[in-house]
Amino acid sequence: MSSHKKVIETNSPEETFETGRQLGLSAKPGDIYTLSGDLGVGKTVFTQGVAAGLGIREHVSSPTFTIVQVYEEGRIPFYHFDVYRIGDIEEMDEIGYEDYFFGEGISIIEWAELIAELIPEQAKSIIIEKNLEKGFDYRKIIIE
Ligand code: ADP
Ligand code: MG
Repeated sequence: MSSHKKVIETNSPEETFETGRQLGLSAKPGDIYTLSGDLGVGKTVFTQGVAAGLGIREHVSSPTFTIVQVYEEGRIPFYHFDVYRIGDIEEMDEIGYEDYFFGEGISIIEWAELIAELIPEQAKSIIIEKNLEKGFDYRKIIIE
């Protein structure tokens, strides 16, 4: 089994944004990414880069009070999920998650481990990590 793992190291929010932007530029309809990492690691910065790469000019923040935030002004639709506050997995059915996961846009899912059984096998993962030994602004971004 081959794993196509890409590791990118960044040393500023701008570089992490740019890494996300590149992903947004090459994203294809139906792409699904899980996005993991500790609070303050740069998930939102990365996601804002993805949105920019898709051509979305609207401000992108964490979808704190809704499970999914939909952005339609870009090259393809962008579905930004944050399922941190999900109480029951059935809430995913209620929002019609399948129309997003298997639709015409790109999905990014934060806290995907809370809905692990719904994440399609073809989903790719993005993990962002700090390493304080390498400096305060160092981040390792693992995409596979
Ligand atoms: P999260 O969404 O993961 O909680 P945010 O993206 O909201 O995190 O915040 C990341 C914070 O880390 C920002 O304040 C940003 O300026 C800072 N930061 C410092 N270095 C980096 C880096 N290399 N990549 C991303 N963010 C960085
Ligand atoms: Mg965030």
